[in-house]
Amino acid sequence: MKIDFKNQESIRILTKCLLKRDFELDVDLPKDKLVPTLPLRFNYILWIQDILDQFDLKENITGIDIGTGASCIYCLLASKSKSWRMFGTEIDECNLKVARENVLRNQLQDKITVLSQDQTDLNFFSKLFDSHPQLESVDFCMVNPPFFKYKLHPCLIDTQFHSAVSLFRSISDVENAKNRTRKRKLPKSVIRGSQHEIVCDGGEVEFVNRLIKESLELKNRIKFYSSMLGHKSSLTTILVNLREAGISNLSSTEFVQGKTTRWGVVWSFLENCDLNVFKKDSSSIFSLLKTKNQILKHLIPNPQNQNTFEEIKDTLKEILKNIQIQIKVIENHESSLIWELHAFEVTWRNQRRKRRERARLENSKVPEVTEPKIIRSGPPNLIVGLELSKNDIEFLIQTFFISGTLEKVCVGEILQFIKNNLKVS
Ligand code: SAH
Repeated sequence: MKIDFKNQESIRILTKCLLKRDFELDVDLPKDKLVPTLPLRFNYILWIQDILDQFDLKENITGIDIGTGASCIYCLLASKSKSWRMFGTEIDECNLKVARENVLRNQLQDKITVLSQDQTDLNFFSKLFDSHPQLESVDFCMVNPPFFKYKLHPCLIDTQFHSAVSLFRSISDVENAKNRTRKRKLPKSVIRGSQHEIVCDGGEVEFVNRLIKESLELKNRIKFYSSMLGHKSSLTTILVNLREAGISNLSSTEFVQGKTTRWGVVWSFLENCDLNVFKKDSSSIFSLLKTKNQILKHLIPNPQNQNTFEEIKDTLKEILKNIQIQIKVIENHESSLIWELHAFEVTWRNQRRKRRERARLENSKVPEVTEPKIIRSGPPNLIVGLELSKNDIEFLIQTFFISGTLEKVCVGEILQFIKNNLKVS
């Protein structure tokens, strides 16, 4: 038998059957609500599990699913297949009711709590943490936020497939400049779900921006903050926003299922859990950050190739170490690199005066006073992007502001300091 993937009812029944066969879950999926695509949902859970495993978090895992929907899909999958303790939140009364029934029907009430959330509450977690003060540290939170920015006319959702598809395309056109040519093919499946489920103010980017903001307050109360994203452009924006918020411990992934691609983003404030991935996207994110901020350049001639890339790299490391700037390696190649420079204090000013003072003390035989070590607590006060690249005749250093409370002029001062101290042969 052939399944019609454009037919909402076929998808609904197929999903129910798969949930039963593969997970022994008996789930009510109301006809007018979002039908979760199972493989994508499960992929997200598996990705979270990979992250937890990587940091040896294996026992008594607790997670939060923001906007659990009528299906309560993430909570059900996570508790049934991984035995995790889950909290699901939901603003829609009807979804809330069905979600709770789904939990009870599968006798998972000891493992899953579904909580009502006020639509007007800008915080995702305050109600949950207020009512469950024992939840001191949650392992992760996840969300599949409403994708779209604009309100859809009710008649275009669910049933009227063709109209819905044309609207889908027009929304994508607005949101995604890349699609202006209208060359992109029409989506293969139906837009399913009610307004609440697929539309919110500002779309998924605003939703995740709110999560970023709240995470900056809650920090380690949740170990890993994560979200699924429906548009590649949203992922880029969110990665830039995270960096601009001073969050550099992050990672992203792609969930590919047939012709559908979704993206996942995760970030953390834990110092001993370095997500440190960012490999694939770093160049494009840095390009974007560069377009937003002034780039300061310094060329170092190297006509006879007298200096190797490694030599310049080591010299840079030494210079930065002397002014106690930390380096976070973003990319490292044979003849190019990208670093994030983390500065906690202004250490690069008045270096000449400091050198003179040191010389004077040395001459007067007074024991040398070493620079006081900077105590690093909290985030750096300045994050600067630094790119070093080499071609046949020269090296190029580029620096640009990423985030921080220190003035942007500091970027130029740091580059000047590097120039003054780069003694190349
Ligand atoms: N997690 C489900 C449903 C995703 S749709 C799935 O993956 O299939 C997004 C859900 O988030 C909707 O059910 C919507 O009602 C809910 N929602 C929207 N804003 C919310 C908020 N601020 N807090 C909690 N839930 C919210």
